[in-house]
Amino acid sequence: MAHFRIPISGSPEPEIQLKFRSASPNYPDKYYVGTATNPPGKCNLGVQVPYKKNWLGSIVGASNSDTWLYSTVTIYHNSMTDCVSMDYAEKVSNATHEVGHSLGLDHPSSGSASSVMQQGVQSIGPTTYDKNDIIAKWGP
Ligand SMILES: [Zn+2]
Repeated sequence: MAHFRIPISGSPEPEIQLKFRSASPNYPDKYYVGTATNPPGKCNLGVQVPYKKNWLGSIVGASNSDTWLYSTVTIYHNSMTDCVSMDYAEKVSNATHEVGHSLGLDHPSSGSASSVMQQGVQSIGPTTYDKNDIIAKWGP
């Protein structure tokens, strides 16, 4: 069982608490703050990488359509400060976005949906769209 408390920007108290029961308690998700090596003109803000066991029992990279054991989430401090110059709310939104991927959320199919899972720099927390997406995936 993992618990996430995601503060919403500008609110003194967390407005959402996400819970899920992992099918693989020996493989918790891992969260890092790292340093990206950005090619010219690119700015990698964060990444989520899922892992699964292959038929030999070895841990290997998975695709997002696989059922994965765990994932790693990394947000890139240098990208958020040097590359984009994010303020605090934008950094929280970026971290929330990557945690959303570790919960199995994808980018919205509609570019106009208000969602923390939209790509790019924004300063919003989880929206109704995101909460409904979590409920659709994990239940109420
Ligand atoms: Zn993303």
